[in-house]
Amino acid sequence: MFFLIILCISSTILITFYIVFKLRNKKYKDFILKNSIALKQLLDINDKYHFYECKSYDDSHVYDNNDFYNNISCEDYLIYQLQFKKYEVSKDIKNIDNNIVLYDLYCKEIVAINSFGNFNSSTEKLNQKHLYSIEKEVFNQYKLKPILHFYITITLYCSKINGQIYASKRKTFTSDQILPLIKRLDNKNGGFYNDKGIWDSLCRVERGRVSNKMRFSIYKRDGYRCRICGRSGCFDYLEIDHIKPIAKGGKTTYDNLQTLCRRCNKEKGDKY
Ligand SMILES: [Zn+2]
Repeated sequence: MFFLIILCISSTILITFYIVFKLRNKKYKDFILKNSIALKQLLDINDKYHFYECKSYDDSHVYDNNDFYNNISCEDYLIYQLQFKKYEVSKDIKNIDNNIVLYDLYCKEIVAINSFGNFNSSTEKLNQKHLYSIEKEVFNQYKLKPILHFYITITLYCSKINGQIYASKRKTFTSDQILPLIKRLDNKNGGFYNDKGIWDSLCRVERGRVSNKMRFSIYKRDGYRCRICGRSGCFDYLEIDHIKPIAKGGKTTYDNLQTLCRRCNKEKGDKY
C-alpha cells in the first residue's frame, strides 16, 4: 500500500514536470516563430528553392510457385519493370541530380545566415540560453530536406497456393545500379536485345508470370487435354506452353497460352 502511494505521487510529479516543460517550450517556440530574424531569413530562402519530389517506383510481386520464386532475382524483376518505366525513371534520376546541385547552393545560402539570437521583440523575460537552443532546433526543423538519392526497392514473395506468404527477398537499387541496366536495355536491334543477360532476365520473369491460378484456368479452358495430340491426363502430365515462345518474344497472355502434354511440349520446344 505504502509503495503504491509513493508510486502515484512520483508519477504525478513527473507528469506535472513534463507538462510544465512542454508548455515552456511551446512558449519559446511561439516567440521564435514570430520574432526570430534568422528563421525569417531561412523562410525567405526556402521560398526561392523548388526541389523535385520524386515518386516511388518500389515494386513487389507474389509468386505462388516456388520454382519461379527461386529462379527470378530481384534484379530480373527490376529489369522487366524497367522495360516500361525506363523513360520516367531516367527523367527522375536526372531531376534528383538537379536537386543535388540546387541543394549545394541552398546550403551555402543557409550557412551564411548569422543573425541567430536577434529578435524583433524584447527577450528580457526569457532564458537566453534556452531561447538560443530552441531557436537552433526550430531553424533546423524548417530547413528544406529534398530527396538527394534515387532508389528502387524490389520485394519478391513466395506464397502457398492458399496465398499464405512463407518467404521473401528484397533488394534496393541505387541510380548507379539502375542506369547501366537501362543502357543495356536500350542496346536493342529492332525487337531483339543484344545483351544476353538482359534477355535471359526478361525471359525468366515472363515465364514466371504464369501463376497457378492462370495455369488451372488454361487447363479448364482447354478441357484438360493436350491441344496437339488430344490426350487428357492428370495435372502432372499436362504443361502450359507459350504458343509463340518467350524466346521469340511471346508474352504471357491467355491468348498465347495452351495446354500440352509433356511429350508434345518437349517436341515443340521453341518452335512456333
Ligand atoms: Zn500431346
